[in-house]
Amino acid sequence: MFNSALVNRFHQLETPFYYYDLQSLKATLKACADASFKYHFQVHYAMKANFNPRVLDTIQSFGFGADCVSGNEVLAAVNHGFKREKIVFAGVGKSDKEINLALDQNIFCFNVESVQELQVINDLAAAKNKTASIAIRINPNVDAHTHHFITTGLEENKFGINTWELPAVAEKLRQCKNLKFLGIHFHVGSQINDLSVFQNLCLKVNEMQLWFQEEGFEVKVLNVGGGLGVDYFLPDKNSIVDFESYFKVFKDFLHVNPNQEVHFELGRALVAQCASLISRVLYVKNGIKKNFLILDAGMTELIRPMLYQAYHQIENLSWEQGAENEEAISNQQSGSSNQLSGSSNSHLATQTPHLITSYDVVGPICESTDCFRTDVELPESKRGDLIAIRTAGAYGEVMASGYNLRDRVQSVYSEE
Ligand SMILES: *Cc1c(COP(=O)(O)O)cnc(C)c1O
Repeated sequence: MFNSALVNRFHQLETPFYYYDLQSLKATLKACADASFKYHFQVHYAMKANFNPRVLDTIQSFGFGADCVSGNEVLAAVNHGFKREKIVFAGVGKSDKEINLALDQNIFCFNVESVQELQVINDLAAAKNKTASIAIRINPNVDAHTHHFITTGLEENKFGINTWELPAVAEKLRQCKNLKFLGIHFHVGSQINDLSVFQNLCLKVNEMQLWFQEEGFEVKVLNVGGGLGVDYFLPDKNSIVDFESYFKVFKDFLHVNPNQEVHFELGRALVAQCASLISRVLYVKNGIKKNFLILDAGMTELIRPMLYQAYHQIENLSWEQGAENEEAISNQQSGSSNQLSGSSNSHLATQTPHLITSYDVVGPICESTDCFRTDVELPESKRGDLIAIRTAGAYGEVMASGYNLRDRVQSVYSEE
């Protein structure tokens, strides 16, 4: 992913920053669009995974819809050209202000997460003389077999409406004159790599749509949410998710009648691999038991490792380029190439390789949890080396904070 020209470019820049490879993003979006189009499935991008403007514009240009979880995300979706009839609004705690905003924007659908919320949306819509289209987010009690911090589809979670409450939902829907029931919505968790989880979800969806039909409701939309995982261990080898197999599960197991639409809400699977967090080594501390690599990026730039023990691949780019330089240098010595003379990174060429050392890679923030990973095997690293933390496109830049009054993390793009 990082050739020497790119690493040279990084060397000129202030760190830390997110590097976005827009070509990689487009390749992923195309793979997803092709695979979903085959079955006439509609994908709404879960904007909370990454709302960087360039990323949003690129995703919008592929015709995806937007799945929003706040009023501001609804506004951002509209402002970035997502079609109103392809914008949905989910979230367990929508405020009145946010609901009013979404009503004013005439979005496609509210995904409703409680009986009380049904009444609130109905009343706010009535005050505007409008009808709000809604889908019921059902908690299917499907175990996503993923980290317990990011499962959402179990009865003990705060999300969605539990199945025993559905009779109350049906009754409320019959009473609420300013609501239009569109369908049912599910989202069972995130970073799911075991496709049998989605197979189980399909069985639940089939069961639930039957229940609503028997209650006399037409179910026009089956929204099965997102949650498809990516490969954090082999970002280059598996840079694009196997969308074909994912959508085929729904093709094979979901009961879809001819006038129904099937909607998806993918976030991570679309954007995770397109970005890396690039930082520099500030200090190397060699202790008795531990060696620390202290970076100029920390939990204020990428909090996933600290928040839910997430794994990210960590690479020393200066060393990788050093290795390339060496090859070039030996070519040069044998007279075959002269490409490196005048290289601006002379310090790289003199680097003595390549003792593998174990480091705890940490950030500068005044918290002990500010550690990206412990015991990372890296070539011996030194002050000034460039470090890439891979697969940082999803839930990375969007979770950046201003803690310690740090500068806001910058973004750099592959095409200018
Ligand atoms: C976060 C979220 C998604 C996207 O999840 P990914 O794991 O990023 O695909 C989809 N739907 C809802 C309701 C969400 O909250």
